[in-house]
Amino acid sequence: MFKGILIEKDDAGYRAAVKEIDDSQLPEGDVTVRVDYSSLNYKDGLAITGKGPVVRKFPMVPGIDIAGTVEASDNAEYKVGDRVVLNGWGVGETHWGGLAQRARLKGDWLVPLPAAFSAKQAVSIGTAGYTAMLCVLALEKQGVKPGDGEIVVTGAAGGVGSVAIAVLNKLGYTVVAVSGRPEETDYLKQLGAAEVLDRSLFSAPGKPLGKERWAGAVDVVGSHTLANICATTRYRGVVTACGLAGGMDLPASVAPFILRGVTLVGIDSVMCPRPDRLVAWQRLARDLDIAKLDLITHEVSLAEAIPTAAQLMDGKVRGRVVVDVN
Ligand code: NDP
Repeated sequence: MFKGILIEKDDAGYRAAVKEIDDSQLPEGDVTVRVDYSSLNYKDGLAITGKGPVVRKFPMVPGIDIAGTVEASDNAEYKVGDRVVLNGWGVGETHWGGLAQRARLKGDWLVPLPAAFSAKQAVSIGTAGYTAMLCVLALEKQGVKPGDGEIVVTGAAGGVGSVAIAVLNKLGYTVVAVSGRPEETDYLKQLGAAEVLDRSLFSAPGKPLGKERWAGAVDVVGSHTLANICATTRYRGVVTACGLAGGMDLPASVAPFILRGVTLVGIDSVMCPRPDRLVAWQRLARDLDIAKLDLITHEVSLAEAIPTAAQLMDGKVRGRVVVDVN
């Protein structure tokens, strides 16, 4: 038996609780992992609270991030005792995830724990941090260089935003953070933001084109915010879009794309191919100031993860939440 959060949905309703789970209930997979840590991402918040249709099968163990140790393996790539990390691949959505003491997974989904990180640091970065790195890599790939001008990061005090600011700052970019929490201004400046703007400047319907300001952007908010960022991006600037914290719609015009040559790059971490993941983790090892992870992260227990997920949905959680499942 092992402990885990189980999400159930039936005539009694949608609910998440810490339960004792029998090993025989674990799903199919060729690698069994003793989980050390998981984390809470926005998607885990949606799953645990039931606020979004993230969970596709019931009962479900949520948790899209896992750091742990291989306990049993029928996969040639992994042996007992290997330290591994997993992000995404539908884990915590269609396949039981990391918010439990044990997980059974496909070896193809795992990557070796990067030597630069402890298990806790790896989930502290987690899907949010690795997605932030995918955004930075996309900016680089499109040719945005540190001297080119300001990079705007929205949802700045959240998980993706916090890591994006830290990485961009270390790489020498000038970062402007957009946040709805003025009380986090000092935090965002400690991470490396040169300026903090209130999110209300971006969240209302705007004009098709505005004054050109951004050389690049990392947007986790979507909706009017993403539209307004595209409208104020400089000629040939690059906007990376990875989130929907403000809405799934995109009420924009084509003007920034056809008149200013702006590039809008979509970022997905869930099905991102393995070679790109390995590059992102290598770059995180090099380009994230590990000392800043302590500032970004706080730890909760498995039981505390359930109320914390509700706080995350209310936009009240700063940075990243690591879950000690043991
Ligand atoms: P967090 O909850 O940690 O951060 C989200 C932040 O967005 C909040 O902290 C808040 O920042 C801001 N925010 C929240 N609600 C609103 C709102 N209504 N309007 C404007 N801003 C808002 O989530 P994550 O960082 O884990 O994820 C951020 C987004 O990125 C989510 O939508 C998530 O689904 C998406 N995502 C996508 C991935 C992909 O593969 N494409 C992978 C990982 C995440 P502040 O208080 O500073 O304003």
